[in-house]
Amino acid sequence: MQTGIRLRSALLDALAVVAPTTCAGCGEHDRSLCDACAGALRPIAREVDLDGLRVVYSHDYDGIVRSALAAYKDGGRTDAGGHLAPSLASAVAHALGSTTSTGSVHLVTVPSSRAAFRARGYTPVGLLLQHAGLRAEPALRARRQAADQSGLTAASRRQNRSGWLEPRGRIAGRRVLLVDDILTTGATLLEARRALESAGAHVIGAAVLARTPRRHPGSINGRR
Ligand SMILES: [Zn+2]
Repeated sequence: MQTGIRLRSALLDALAVVAPTTCAGCGEHDRSLCDACAGALRPIAREVDLDGLRVVYSHDYDGIVRSALAAYKDGGRTDAGGHLAPSLASAVAHALGSTTSTGSVHLVTVPSSRAAFRARGYTPVGLLLQHAGLRAEPALRARRQAADQSGLTAASRRQNRSGWLEPRGRIAGRRVLLVDDILTTGATLLEARRALESAGAHVIGAAVLARTPRRHPGSINGRR
């Protein structure tokens, strides 16, 4: 028995040489994601109305979800994607499941900026969808570089974002579900809807992995 434990421990140490040695959620020395953090990533579908756009989300963007997503997007921990993908897929499924209309729906993600794509070498949301066996259509592209959003008020974010996306390809008459990772003010999703509707698409809703908890009631769509 003792030998078995020692052998297992030695095996884990050996694996740690080639595999991530810390949990992407809490940073503890463990596997890619420890059991406690995996538990915190169980999705619970909720929805919010964003200026008439129904957005389904799986988590509050906080705690383990926040650190795992940050590790995945900007910490080089693409291995966390497999753990986060079910949460995004669940939001997509709920958004599609409760739609009243029938027929095919196209998933459309918000494009990464060119700089972000160069830095990462992949698009985080597109890769999460791939993990879940889903595929997004490249129906949007960035028209110009938007300024950094951090530190801006909801109103400035909206202004900064307005008109930065444009449709690409033929999407007139198509039914579209927007997919993104984090919902904060909603400015990005609303800009995506504006761009797609300007090309004649019908945006039926949106699915996101996590929503930033509201600290200022009423501020999500800028109407206070
Ligand atoms: Zn953990």
